[in-house]
Amino acid sequence: MSTKHVRTAADLIRFKTALRVECTSCGNSRTMSGFDVVKLCGTEDLRRLQHRFKCTLCGAREASLTVLSPPPPRN
Ligand SMILES: [Zn+2]
Repeated sequence: MSTKHVRTAADLIRFKTALRVECTSCGNSRTMSGFDVVKLCGTEDLRRLQHRFKCTLCGAREASLTVLSPPPPRN
């Protein structure tokens, strides 16, 4: 399954994937689940969220967002 259809935070939950938030200023990164993103920002278009994430280390609002591939299905 491709992650290119993931456009909003709600899609992260739907596709059971996560969002990697990387600070382009200091390199700090964290991974957030779809639920975390929705809780923090609502179900907005991910491209609009770029400036909503504030780095916990340096305080910059220059996040680079990457949609992670969903985990392989468990049998
Ligand atoms: Zn930073």
